[in-house]
Amino acid sequence: MLKAEIITSGTELLLGEITDSNTPYLASRLAGLGIDLYYTSTVGDNYQRFYGVLEQAWNRSDLIITTGGLGPTQGDITRDVIAGLLGEELTVDPDLKREIIELFSRRGMEMPENNIRQATIIPSAVALRNSSGTAPGWWVEKEGRIIVTLPGPPAELQSMWNYQVLPRLKEKSGAIIVSRTIKTWGLSEAKVDEMVSPFLSTANPTLAMYAGPEGIRLRITAKADTEEAAGALITEREKDIRGILDNYIWGADDETLEGIIGRLLRSRGMTLAVAESFTGGLLAGALTGVPESRDFFRGGIIVPAGAAEASAESAAGLANKARREFAADVGIAIDGNIKDADDNTRDAVYIAVDTASNQGTIKANYPARLPYITRRIISHALIYLRDFIRS
Ligand code: ATP
Repeated sequence: MLKAEIITSGTELLLGEITDSNTPYLASRLAGLGIDLYYTSTVGDNYQRFYGVLEQAWNRSDLIITTGGLGPTQGDITRDVIAGLLGEELTVDPDLKREIIELFSRRGMEMPENNIRQATIIPSAVALRNSSGTAPGWWVEKEGRIIVTLPGPPAELQSMWNYQVLPRLKEKSGAIIVSRTIKTWGLSEAKVDEMVSPFLSTANPTLAMYAGPEGIRLRITAKADTEEAAGALITEREKDIRGILDNYIWGADDETLEGIIGRLLRSRGMTLAVAESFTGGLLAGALTGVPESRDFFRGGIIVPAGAAEASAESAAGLANKARREFAADVGIAIDGNIKDADDNTRDAVYIAVDTASNQGTIKANYPARLPYITRRIISHALIYLRDFIRS
Protein backbone atom coordinates (compact mmCIF):
# COMPACT_ATOMS: atom_id res chain seq x y z
CA MET A 1 0.00 0.00 0.00
CA LEU A 2 1.42 3.36 -1.06
CA LYS A 3 1.93 5.94 1.68
CA ALA A 4 1.47 9.38 0.20
CA GLU A 5 2.53 12.89 1.18
CA ILE A 6 1.71 16.27 -0.39
CA ILE A 7 4.02 19.29 -0.40
CA THR A 8 2.65 22.58 -1.71
CA SER A 9 5.18 25.32 -2.36
CA GLY A 10 4.86 29.05 -2.68
CA THR A 11 5.68 31.92 -0.34
CA GLU A 12 2.32 33.52 -1.21
CA LEU A 13 0.63 30.53 0.49
CA LEU A 14 2.56 31.24 3.70
CA LEU A 15 1.68 34.93 3.54
CA GLY A 16 -2.02 34.13 3.32
CA GLU A 17 -2.25 35.81 -0.08
CA ILE A 18 -3.67 32.71 -1.71
CA THR A 19 -5.53 29.82 -0.15
CA ASP A 20 -4.25 26.35 -0.83
CA SER A 21 -6.86 24.50 -2.86
CA ASN A 22 -4.44 21.98 -4.36
CA THR A 23 -4.06 19.97 -1.15
CA PRO A 24 -7.80 19.27 -0.67
CA TYR A 25 -8.14 18.47 -4.36
CA LEU A 26 -5.28 15.97 -4.30
CA ALA A 27 -6.28 14.58 -0.90
CA SER A 28 -9.77 13.72 -2.07
CA ARG A 29 -8.41 12.13 -5.26
CA LEU A 30 -5.98 10.00 -3.27
CA ALA A 31 -8.77 8.92 -0.91
CA GLY A 32 -10.83 7.90 -3.94
CA LEU A 33 -7.94 5.73 -5.09
CA GLY A 34 -7.62 4.11 -1.68
CA ILE A 35 -4.11 5.57 -1.25
CA ASP A 36 -3.28 6.55 2.33
CA LEU A 37 -2.24 10.17 2.74
CA TYR A 38 -0.18 10.58 5.91
CA TYR A 39 1.27 14.08 5.73
CA THR A 40 0.72 17.42 4.01
CA SER A 41 2.94 20.48 4.28
CA THR A 42 3.47 23.90 2.76
CA VAL A 43 6.84 25.50 2.23
CA GLY A 44 8.00 28.85 0.83
CA ASP A 45 10.24 29.41 -2.17
CA ASN A 46 13.41 28.83 -0.19
CA TYR A 47 15.88 26.17 -1.33
CA GLN A 48 17.10 24.99 2.08
CA ARG A 49 13.68 24.73 3.66
CA PHE A 50 12.10 23.07 0.61
CA TYR A 51 15.05 20.63 0.54
CA GLY A 52 14.47 19.81 4.22
CA VAL A 53 10.77 19.14 3.75
CA LEU A 54 11.38 17.02 0.63
CA GLU A 55 14.13 15.03 2.34
CA GLN A 56 11.83 14.28 5.26
CA ALA A 57 9.10 13.15 2.83
CA TRP A 58 11.60 10.98 0.94
CA ASN A 59 12.49 9.24 4.21
CA ARG A 60 8.94 8.42 5.25
CA SER A 61 6.67 8.23 2.17
CA ASP A 62 6.41 6.18 -1.03
CA LEU A 63 4.51 8.73 -3.10
CA ILE A 64 5.39 12.43 -2.81
CA ILE A 65 3.32 14.97 -4.71
CA THR A 66 4.63 18.54 -5.01
CA THR A 67 2.71 21.50 -6.41
CA GLY A 68 3.96 24.88 -7.57
CA GLY A 69 7.39 26.33 -8.21
CA LEU A 70 7.67 25.18 -11.83
CA GLY A 71 7.61 28.66 -13.36
CA PRO A 72 10.46 30.23 -15.33
CA THR A 73 11.84 32.55 -12.64
CA GLN A 74 14.67 32.17 -10.15
CA GLY A 75 12.06 31.84 -7.39
CA ASP A 76 10.70 28.67 -8.97
CA ILE A 77 12.98 26.11 -7.39
CA THR A 78 11.08 22.81 -7.32
CA ARG A 79 13.14 21.25 -10.13
CA ASP A 80 16.41 22.35 -8.49
CA VAL A 81 15.41 20.96 -5.09
CA ILE A 82 14.48 17.54 -6.47
CA ALA A 83 17.63 17.38 -8.59
CA GLY A 84 19.66 18.38 -5.51
CA LEU A 85 18.11 15.78 -3.23
CA LEU A 86 18.45 12.97 -5.77
CA GLY A 87 21.98 14.05 -6.74
CA GLU A 88 21.06 14.29 -10.40
CA GLU A 89 21.95 16.85 -13.02
CA LEU A 90 19.42 19.10 -14.69
CA THR A 91 19.86 19.27 -18.45
CA VAL A 92 17.78 20.83 -21.20
CA ASP A 93 15.55 18.31 -22.96
CA PRO A 94 15.51 19.23 -26.68
CA ASP A 95 11.90 18.01 -27.19
CA LEU A 96 10.61 20.01 -24.23
CA LYS A 97 12.53 23.05 -25.42
CA ARG A 98 10.99 22.79 -28.89
CA GLU A 99 7.49 22.40 -27.43
CA ILE A 100 7.85 25.50 -25.27
CA ILE A 101 9.23 27.55 -28.20
CA GLU A 102 6.29 26.38 -30.34
CA LEU A 103 3.81 27.27 -27.60
CA PHE A 104 5.16 30.82 -27.46
CA SER A 105 5.14 31.17 -31.24
CA ARG A 106 1.49 30.04 -31.37
CA ARG A 107 0.79 32.94 -29.01
CA GLY A 108 2.75 35.20 -31.38
CA MET A 109 5.61 35.65 -28.90
CA GLU A 110 9.26 34.82 -28.69
CA MET A 111 10.29 32.58 -25.80
CA PRO A 112 12.00 34.62 -23.06
CA GLU A 113 15.40 33.13 -22.26
CA ASN A 114 14.28 32.29 -18.70
CA ASN A 115 11.66 29.84 -19.91
CA ILE A 116 14.42 27.46 -20.91
CA ARG A 117 14.41 26.46 -17.21
CA GLN A 118 11.07 24.80 -17.82
CA ALA A 119 12.62 22.51 -20.42
CA THR A 120 15.16 21.09 -17.96
CA ILE A 121 14.81 17.58 -16.58
CA ILE A 122 16.75 14.95 -14.60
CA PRO A 123 17.46 11.38 -15.81
CA SER A 124 14.97 9.75 -13.39
CA ALA A 125 12.09 11.97 -14.49
CA VAL A 126 9.58 11.63 -17.29
CA ALA A 127 7.95 14.91 -18.37
CA LEU A 128 4.20 15.28 -17.89
CA ARG A 129 2.67 17.41 -20.66
CA ASN A 130 0.89 20.57 -19.57
CA SER A 131 -2.10 21.16 -21.82
CA SER A 132 -2.95 24.59 -20.43
CA GLY A 133 0.39 26.16 -19.50
CA THR A 134 4.09 26.13 -20.26
CA ALA A 135 5.47 24.24 -17.24
CA PRO A 136 5.70 20.47 -17.73
CA GLY A 137 5.35 18.35 -14.60
CA TRP A 138 7.56 15.42 -13.68
CA TRP A 139 6.99 11.78 -12.86
CA VAL A 140 10.09 10.57 -11.02
CA GLU A 141 10.70 6.97 -10.01
CA LYS A 142 13.73 6.11 -7.94
CA GLU A 143 14.64 3.70 -5.16
CA GLY A 144 11.09 2.43 -4.79
CA ARG A 145 9.63 5.90 -4.43
CA ILE A 146 7.63 8.11 -6.71
CA ILE A 147 7.75 11.90 -6.86
CA VAL A 148 5.01 13.60 -8.86
CA THR A 149 5.70 17.27 -9.54
CA LEU A 150 2.73 19.36 -10.62
CA PRO A 151 2.31 23.05 -11.52
CA GLY A 152 0.67 25.40 -9.00
CA PRO A 153 -2.27 26.85 -10.98
CA PRO A 154 -5.23 24.61 -10.06
CA ALA A 155 -6.57 24.25 -13.62
CA GLU A 156 -3.17 23.11 -14.92
CA LEU A 157 -2.69 20.80 -11.96
CA GLN A 158 -6.11 19.19 -12.29
CA SER A 159 -5.86 18.47 -15.98
CA MET A 160 -2.36 17.05 -15.52
CA TRP A 161 -3.64 14.91 -12.67
CA ASN A 162 -6.54 13.51 -14.67
CA TYR A 163 -4.75 12.83 -17.93
CA GLN A 164 -1.17 12.13 -16.93
CA VAL A 165 -0.97 11.09 -13.31
CA LEU A 166 -4.13 9.07 -12.72
CA PRO A 167 -3.45 6.44 -15.42
CA ARG A 168 0.11 5.96 -14.12
CA LEU A 169 -1.03 5.69 -10.49
CA LYS A 170 -3.76 3.20 -11.33
CA GLU A 171 -1.15 1.07 -13.04
CA LYS A 172 1.07 1.27 -9.95
CA SER A 173 -1.58 0.41 -7.41
CA GLY A 174 -2.59 -2.54 -9.60
CA ALA A 175 -6.13 -2.51 -8.28
CA ILE A 176 -9.50 -1.09 -9.19
CA ILE A 177 -11.10 1.13 -6.58
CA VAL A 178 -14.84 1.69 -6.63
CA SER A 179 -16.86 3.69 -4.16
CA ARG A 180 -20.48 4.47 -3.46
CA THR A 181 -21.99 7.10 -1.19
CA ILE A 182 -25.21 6.51 0.73
CA LYS A 183 -27.00 9.62 1.99
CA THR A 184 -29.13 9.73 5.13
CA TRP A 185 -31.25 12.26 6.99
CA GLY A 186 -32.69 12.25 10.48
CA LEU A 187 -29.94 10.59 12.50
CA SER A 188 -27.02 12.12 14.36
CA GLU A 189 -23.47 11.19 13.45
CA ALA A 190 -23.10 9.36 16.77
CA LYS A 191 -26.24 7.35 16.16
CA VAL A 192 -25.19 6.33 12.63
CA ASP A 193 -21.77 5.42 14.00
CA GLU A 194 -23.38 3.19 16.61
CA MET A 195 -25.71 1.52 14.12
CA VAL A 196 -23.11 0.67 11.49
CA SER A 197 -20.18 0.20 13.87
CA PRO A 198 -19.39 -3.43 12.87
CA PHE A 199 -18.66 -2.22 9.34
CA LEU A 200 -16.53 0.79 10.26
CA SER A 201 -13.46 -1.30 10.98
CA THR A 202 -13.43 -3.65 7.99
CA ALA A 203 -10.52 -3.31 5.57
CA ASN A 204 -12.23 -4.12 2.26
CA PRO A 205 -14.68 -2.63 1.66
CA THR A 206 -14.02 0.31 3.95
CA LEU A 207 -16.78 2.49 5.32
CA ALA A 208 -16.32 6.17 6.15
CA MET A 209 -18.81 8.68 7.56
CA TYR A 210 -19.15 12.38 6.83
CA ALA A 211 -21.59 14.87 8.34
CA GLY A 212 -22.92 17.64 6.14
CA PRO A 213 -25.90 19.93 5.72
CA GLU A 214 -27.76 17.22 3.81
CA GLY A 215 -27.33 14.71 6.63
CA ILE A 216 -24.82 11.96 7.28
CA ARG A 217 -23.16 10.40 4.25
CA LEU A 218 -21.56 6.97 4.28
CA ARG A 219 -18.94 6.16 1.69
CA ILE A 220 -18.25 2.52 0.86
CA THR A 221 -14.95 1.93 -0.94
CA ALA A 222 -13.91 -1.44 -2.32
CA LYS A 223 -10.69 -2.59 -3.91
CA ALA A 224 -10.34 -5.57 -6.23
CA ASP A 225 -8.62 -6.81 -9.37
CA THR A 226 -11.59 -6.09 -11.60
CA GLU A 227 -14.41 -3.57 -11.75
CA GLU A 228 -16.95 -6.39 -11.35
CA ALA A 229 -15.31 -7.84 -8.24
CA ALA A 230 -15.09 -4.37 -6.62
CA GLY A 231 -18.72 -3.71 -7.61
CA ALA A 232 -19.83 -6.98 -6.02
CA LEU A 233 -18.14 -6.07 -2.72
CA ILE A 234 -19.89 -2.68 -2.77
CA THR A 235 -23.31 -4.16 -3.57
CA GLU A 236 -23.08 -6.62 -0.72
CA ARG A 237 -22.04 -3.99 1.84
CA GLU A 238 -24.66 -1.57 0.56
CA LYS A 239 -27.31 -4.22 1.22
CA ASP A 240 -26.08 -4.54 4.83
CA ILE A 241 -26.17 -0.77 5.33
CA ARG A 242 -29.59 -0.38 3.70
CA GLY A 243 -30.90 -3.12 5.96
CA ILE A 244 -29.83 -1.12 9.00
CA LEU A 245 -30.50 2.50 7.99
CA ASP A 246 -33.51 1.72 5.83
CA ASN A 247 -35.93 4.68 5.77
CA TYR A 248 -33.28 7.16 6.88
CA ILE A 249 -31.61 6.77 3.47
CA TRP A 250 -32.78 9.32 0.90
CA GLY A 251 -30.29 8.96 -1.91
CA ALA A 252 -26.93 7.82 -3.22
CA ASP A 253 -23.84 9.18 -5.00
CA ASP A 254 -24.60 12.42 -6.91
CA GLU A 255 -28.30 12.56 -6.02
CA THR A 256 -29.52 15.77 -4.39
CA LEU A 257 -32.67 16.40 -2.36
CA GLU A 258 -33.87 19.06 -4.78
CA GLY A 259 -33.26 16.66 -7.68
CA ILE A 260 -35.37 14.03 -5.94
CA ILE A 261 -38.17 16.56 -5.35
CA GLY A 262 -37.97 17.63 -9.00
CA ARG A 263 -38.38 14.08 -10.26
CA LEU A 264 -41.14 13.33 -7.76
CA LEU A 265 -43.16 16.40 -8.75
CA ARG A 266 -42.67 15.80 -12.44
CA SER A 267 -43.68 12.15 -12.23
CA ARG A 268 -46.91 13.23 -10.57
CA GLY A 269 -47.45 16.19 -12.87
CA MET A 270 -47.49 18.59 -9.88
CA THR A 271 -46.33 22.20 -9.64
CA LEU A 272 -44.75 23.99 -6.67
CA ALA A 273 -44.47 27.52 -5.26
CA VAL A 274 -42.35 28.57 -2.28
CA ALA A 275 -42.36 31.25 0.41
CA GLU A 276 -39.44 31.90 2.70
CA SER A 277 -38.26 34.44 5.23
CA PHE A 278 -34.76 34.16 6.71
CA THR A 279 -33.52 31.74 4.01
CA GLY A 280 -33.83 34.67 1.61
CA GLY A 281 -34.60 32.76 -1.59
CA LEU A 282 -32.11 29.95 -1.08
CA LEU A 283 -34.86 27.31 -1.08
CA ALA A 284 -36.09 28.67 -4.41
CA GLY A 285 -32.48 28.83 -5.62
CA ALA A 286 -31.89 25.17 -4.78
CA LEU A 287 -35.09 24.09 -6.53
CA THR A 288 -34.54 26.17 -9.65
CA GLY A 289 -31.06 24.65 -9.98
CA VAL A 290 -32.47 21.29 -11.07
CA PRO A 291 -33.19 20.63 -14.75
CA GLU A 292 -36.84 19.68 -14.13
CA SER A 293 -37.62 23.04 -12.50
CA ARG A 294 -39.11 24.59 -15.64
CA ASP A 295 -41.83 21.94 -15.45
CA PHE A 296 -42.72 22.26 -11.78
CA PHE A 297 -41.46 25.55 -10.31
CA ARG A 298 -44.11 28.27 -10.46
CA GLY A 299 -42.59 31.03 -8.34
CA GLY A 300 -41.62 32.22 -4.89
CA ILE A 301 -42.10 34.93 -2.30
CA ILE A 302 -39.45 36.28 0.06
CA VAL A 303 -40.70 38.05 3.16
CA PRO A 304 -38.54 39.96 5.64
CA ALA A 305 -37.17 37.83 8.47
CA GLY A 306 -38.30 38.68 11.96
CA ALA A 307 -40.94 41.20 10.84
CA ALA A 308 -43.44 39.36 13.00
CA GLU A 309 -43.10 36.53 15.53
CA ALA A 310 -42.91 33.35 13.44
CA SER A 311 -45.27 30.52 14.28
CA ALA A 312 -46.83 27.42 12.80
CA GLU A 313 -49.71 29.65 11.67
CA SER A 314 -47.45 32.20 9.98
CA ALA A 315 -45.65 29.43 8.06
CA ALA A 316 -48.94 27.78 7.06
CA GLY A 317 -50.27 31.16 5.91
CA LEU A 318 -47.18 31.74 3.76
CA ALA A 319 -47.38 28.28 2.16
CA ASN A 320 -51.03 28.89 1.32
CA LYS A 321 -50.32 32.37 -0.02
CA ALA A 322 -47.50 31.11 -2.29
CA ARG A 323 -49.64 28.27 -3.63
CA ARG A 324 -52.56 30.55 -4.47
CA GLU A 325 -50.53 33.45 -5.77
CA PHE A 326 -48.71 31.26 -8.31
CA ALA A 327 -51.61 28.89 -8.98
CA ALA A 328 -49.46 25.89 -8.01
CA ASP A 329 -50.55 22.48 -6.73
CA VAL A 330 -48.27 22.65 -3.70
CA GLY A 331 -46.98 25.54 -1.60
CA ILE A 332 -44.06 25.20 0.82
CA ALA A 333 -42.88 27.80 3.34
CA ILE A 334 -39.96 28.22 5.74
CA ASP A 335 -40.42 30.74 8.54
CA GLY A 336 -38.61 31.44 11.78
CA ASN A 337 -36.97 34.14 13.85
CA ILE A 338 -33.41 32.90 13.64
CA LYS A 339 -31.05 35.36 15.25
CA ASP A 340 -27.44 35.62 14.26
CA ALA A 341 -26.24 34.88 17.76
CA ASP A 342 -22.87 33.36 18.42
CA ASP A 343 -24.00 31.40 21.42
CA ASN A 344 -25.73 28.16 22.17
CA THR A 345 -29.30 29.34 21.89
CA ARG A 346 -31.65 27.50 19.59
CA ASP A 347 -34.44 29.08 17.64
CA ALA A 348 -37.67 27.63 16.31
CA VAL A 349 -38.05 27.06 12.58
CA TYR A 350 -41.44 26.30 11.03
CA ILE A 351 -41.87 24.42 7.77
CA ALA A 352 -45.34 24.29 6.24
CA VAL A 353 -46.76 22.55 3.17
CA ASP A 354 -50.11 23.41 1.66
CA THR A 355 -52.24 21.77 -1.04
CA ALA A 356 -55.89 22.32 -1.93
CA SER A 357 -56.90 19.37 0.22
CA ASN A 358 -54.23 19.06 2.88
CA GLN A 359 -51.98 21.14 5.14
CA GLY A 360 -49.08 20.23 7.38
CA THR A 361 -46.57 22.04 9.59
CA ILE A 362 -43.53 20.96 11.55
CA LYS A 363 -41.47 22.81 14.09
CA ALA A 364 -37.74 22.22 14.44
CA ASN A 365 -35.12 23.77 16.69
CA TYR A 366 -31.89 24.94 15.18
CA PRO A 367 -28.84 26.61 16.70
CA ALA A 368 -28.93 30.35 16.09
CA ARG A 369 -25.99 30.32 13.72
CA LEU A 370 -26.74 31.81 10.34
CA PRO A 371 -25.64 31.26 7.64
CA TYR A 372 -24.14 27.87 8.58
CA ILE A 373 -27.46 26.22 9.29
CA THR A 374 -29.33 27.56 6.26
CA ARG A 375 -28.67 24.60 4.02
CA ARG A 376 -29.57 22.18 6.83
CA ILE A 377 -32.95 23.85 7.21
CA ILE A 378 -33.50 23.76 3.44
CA SER A 379 -32.66 20.04 3.44
CA HIS A 380 -35.11 19.56 6.30
CA ALA A 381 -37.84 21.36 4.33
CA LEU A 382 -37.17 19.25 1.22
CA ILE A 383 -37.33 16.00 3.21
CA TYR A 384 -40.62 17.13 4.76
CA LEU A 385 -41.98 18.03 1.32
CA ARG A 386 -40.96 14.63 -0.06
CA ASP A 387 -42.71 12.78 2.77
CA PHE A 388 -45.79 15.01 2.47
CA ILE A 389 -46.16 14.39 -1.28
CA ARG A 390 -45.63 10.66 -0.89
CA SER A 391 -48.07 10.23 1.99
P1 ATP B 1 3.65 28.93 -13.29
O1 ATP B 1 4.33 28.14 -14.35
O2 ATP B 1 2.32 29.47 -13.72
O3 ATP B 1 4.54 29.95 -12.64
P2 ATP B 1 4.13 27.31 -10.98
O4 ATP B 1 4.11 25.84 -11.04
O5 ATP B 1 5.45 27.98 -10.86
O6 ATP B 1 3.28 27.86 -12.16
P3 ATP B 1 3.49 28.89 -8.71
O7 ATP B 1 4.31 29.97 -9.34
O8 ATP B 1 3.95 28.30 -7.46
O9 ATP B 1 3.26 27.72 -9.75
O10 ATP B 1 2.01 29.37 -8.58
C1 ATP B 1 1.37 30.01 -9.67
C2 ATP B 1 -0.04 30.37 -9.26
O11 ATP B 1 -0.79 29.19 -9.08
C3 ATP B 1 -0.15 31.08 -7.93
O12 ATP B 1 0.04 32.45 -8.04
C4 ATP B 1 -1.57 30.74 -7.52
O13 ATP B 1 -2.47 31.56 -8.20
C5 ATP B 1 -1.71 29.34 -8.03
N1 ATP B 1 -1.37 28.36 -6.97
C6 ATP B 1 -0.14 27.88 -6.66
N2 ATP B 1 -0.21 27.00 -5.67
C7 ATP B 1 -1.51 26.92 -5.31
C8 ATP B 1 -2.22 26.16 -4.33
N3 ATP B 1 -1.58 25.31 -3.52
N4 ATP B 1 -3.55 26.34 -4.26
C9 ATP B 1 -4.19 27.20 -5.08
N5 ATP B 1 -3.58 27.92 -6.02
C10 ATP B 1 -2.25 27.79 -6.14
